[in-house]
Amino acid sequence: MGRIIHLDRNMVNLIAAGEVIERPASVVKELVENSIDAGATEVMVAAEDGGRKLLSITDNGSGMDAEDLAAAFESHATSKIKEVADLQNIATLGFRGEALASIAAIARVRAVSRMRDSDQAHCIEIDCGDGSPVSPCSGDFGTTIQVRDLFYRTPARRKFLRTANTELGHISEQFARIALPQIHLDLTLIHNGKELHRLPRTESLQQRVSQLFPMLISGPGDLIETASDEKGVRIRALLGRPHVSRTSNQFQYTFLNGRFIRDKFISHAIKEAYRGLLDANRFPVVFLFMEMPCSDYDVNVHPTKVEVRFYNANLVHSQVLGVLREQLLGTDLNAVAQLPAQELAQAGDDSASQQVRRQQIADAMAEFFKKHRPAHQQQFDLRPESGSEPRGPEHKRTVSDTPRPAPSPQLEDNKYIQIHDSYIVEQTDEGFVIIDQHALHERMLYETLHRRLQRDSLESQRLLLPESFEVTDAQAGAIEAHTDLLTQLGVELTPFGPRVYAVQTFPTLLANVGPVEFVRDLIDMLVERGDTVARQDLFNDILSMAACKAAIKAGQRLSDSEIRELLADRKRFESTTRCPHGRPTTIAFSISELEKQFKRT
Ligand code: ADP
Ligand code: MG
Repeated sequence: MGRIIHLDRNMVNLIAAGEVIERPASVVKELVENSIDAGATEVMVAAEDGGRKLLSITDNGSGMDAEDLAAAFESHATSKIKEVADLQNIATLGFRGEALASIAAIARVRAVSRMRDSDQAHCIEIDCGDGSPVSPCSGDFGTTIQVRDLFYRTPARRKFLRTANTELGHISEQFARIALPQIHLDLTLIHNGKELHRLPRTESLQQRVSQLFPMLISGPGDLIETASDEKGVRIRALLGRPHVSRTSNQFQYTFLNGRFIRDKFISHAIKEAYRGLLDANRFPVVFLFMEMPCSDYDVNVHPTKVEVRFYNANLVHSQVLGVLREQLLGTDLNAVAQLPAQELAQAGDDSASQQVRRQQIADAMAEFFKKHRPAHQQQFDLRPESGSEPRGPEHKRTVSDTPRPAPSPQLEDNKYIQIHDSYIVEQTDEGFVIIDQHALHERMLYETLHRRLQRDSLESQRLLLPESFEVTDAQAGAIEAHTDLLTQLGVELTPFGPRVYAVQTFPTLLANVGPVEFVRDLIDMLVERGDTVARQDLFNDILSMAACKAAIKAGQRLSDSEIRELLADRKRFESTTRCPHGRPTTIAFSISELEKQFKRT
């Protein structure tokens, strides 16, 4: 009895602070968001000792008058929403009216503010909840809020702060999350008096990215820009080419109406968009900016608003996947082989990893030519059409002997040879490419299967003689549980006795694979992963397996017409530069690089 009491105002704020303010970086986030909401065009963030000693945020926004300055630090004090209906339509970054009260409950805070049309600034000081009255002082237009000694009276929380460097890392990360979507904002970050970032306002997203992450990209073409505006979802994105991929997803930034968010539907869509373009353990670099009506999602589901709830998550997923995938498949992502020498010499401003990569390519090339020196005296013309000197017919060996009509390079004009029954070397306008015949064919089969499956189930043919095979109970269970999936794949299995099934129909596209062999592997997959992974992932795995089995093998000698068919088939696909497992199918060598190597230029 009498055990329940009402917590006083300061306790309430302290508890709220526990949710919103985890570390100095959280203060930076809240205060800079306030500056943006106040219409600032310039914001400066200064920190000392990783923000543990001091954080100071200065803006040139609207400012506050004496009354608002006092009110701003009250809990649940906000100018951004008034009634329940406003919650459905939040266009500002803040709205809960908690941040300033929380911060003032756990640190020494001093705020100075002056409105644009006022000749007087005001200031207020609050020490862990104990506030002084607002008093006039001198100050510029806008607002400066200084936060000292975060958590100094809550040692349990202070203990969780890490070294200055680690905290600074978190601050920089927050800074980046704000700077990326706000390219029109002039932003500065200072630590211990040293300027770490000075980001002048810009019109270019690419520029903002390279201002923030100079180490991430080595050239202007490393990020592919794309945009779309469909079904109420506006998307703008910078997509890293496969070679700028990372070992973690830390360079995947997604924003919704200017707010950094983390969302599993979007992450999945990004992963899907790069399917087949990257090795399994690599993560693409992606900057994705989405705009949607505020009424299409709920931002009030997470204390720091880093997660939102979409009312139509499927739409978001398919829009993101659609625009990214289309752009990636429509872009030439060929791995361009760089030759060493000059390239390396002038690599002064390149990151070490770039140099290592170049060296690896150079080594791989040298190795390749050591191993794959054509056995027969086959020659192929490496000079581009325009610059080629006339040569006698005895020097030419084009596999197809059609005469050479200028100027549009039809496939028939191109020269190619198969080497080691595994690779096709093909002349191109720019130089030549080396194609891994298995990987290329696999890629094309995979895309074909995928496209068909997206439209409909796979076309199948009925076997003249059903082929039977034995199964375990678990396998029989998996077959029964996945009949609709099997139907979609064009595989019909009928029970043929105890623990025996027969393959009745089989996908036409896989005609050269043994039906039983394929179906057995398929069932193994269903048993292993059928219930644990999303259907889409399961399909992807099945299709890669199928494409791998049905594709031309390495070591398989191809006839002229087979090579021609394989090369011509490429035209039907937007992107064939990597196999479904993410390995390259094609490596390009440019004639200009060769000429440099042979000292012809
Ligand atoms: P919220 O941002 O959720 O409204 P805050 O506690 O962060 O809550 O801020 C309270 C109020 O103080 C804001 O609604 C705004 O009116 C005012 N305010 C805060 N920071 C600034 C600023 N830098 N410039 C102008 N007004 C500000
Ligand atoms: Mg706020």
